[in-house]
Amino acid sequence: MTPVTIVPGAASSPVVIHVPHAATEIPEAVRRDLLLDDEELAAELAAMTDEGTEQIGRLAAGLAGTRPWLAINRFSRLVVDPERFPDEREEMARVGMAAVYTRTSARRPLRDERGQDFTELLETYYRPYGDALADLVDARLIAAGRAIVIDLHSYPRLPLRYELHPDRRRPMTCIGTDSFHTPEQLRETLRDAFAPLGSVAYDEPFAGCYIPLRQYRKTLRVTGVMIELRRDGCGTAAAVRRRAETLAAVVDTLTPAMRR
Ligand SMILES: [Zn+2]
Repeated sequence: MTPVTIVPGAASSPVVIHVPHAATEIPEAVRRDLLLDDEELAAELAAMTDEGTEQIGRLAAGLAGTRPWLAINRFSRLVVDPERFPDEREEMARVGMAAVYTRTSARRPLRDERGQDFTELLETYYRPYGDALADLVDARLIAAGRAIVIDLHSYPRLPLRYELHPDRRRPMTCIGTDSFHTPEQLRETLRDAFAPLGSVAYDEPFAGCYIPLRQYRKTLRVTGVMIELRRDGCGTAAAVRRRAETLAAVVDTLTPAMRR
């Protein structure tokens, strides 16, 4: 079973909306190794799950003139975090939050680290996930000549204890960029689209965007950007709808009109 759900878009669409942190499901075999009781786990999931993002992504895909592709993580980021490096390359490793988290968002123990080998978790979830995303991006490159990955997240108004940069601004919309993969025009399109919904900042409080490792820093035909929506701005059905419409408008800007 693949850990990522791919919802097909138009054959000609270069756009992939990536939703990595919306799910709460944790397979029983993985749950057993977490050092939290059910109440603590529920609290951790509430803190770390990107509420609203699957709904916004799916709605936006349906509203766009040319349907983009969707890639949705089926499992919670507490299983593996597909966006993090599995090793010391990962900045978050120093707070126990590389691809396999060993600490909670409050920096409490999540997994037993002594003599732990996370190879099976990485082989079962992390690697197939990365391969599926890379295959999807390759397919967009072949079909559309380019690929645009829009990485969709939501984040809490107040910083959690694990955050490395709690002093940074926390705008209504944070746009994460990569110096190689995010052209100026792409980030400005996002900024202009989301500005009517409230404050916007680049790379504050969270920086960067997700590009599958197979394509990372390899080709400029793969571009990407991250959208971090502040969760208190997504609290009502109307707010969710408005963000979906905004995202759909961005997708339309990025997708030339063409037959489906
Ligand atoms: Zn996220």
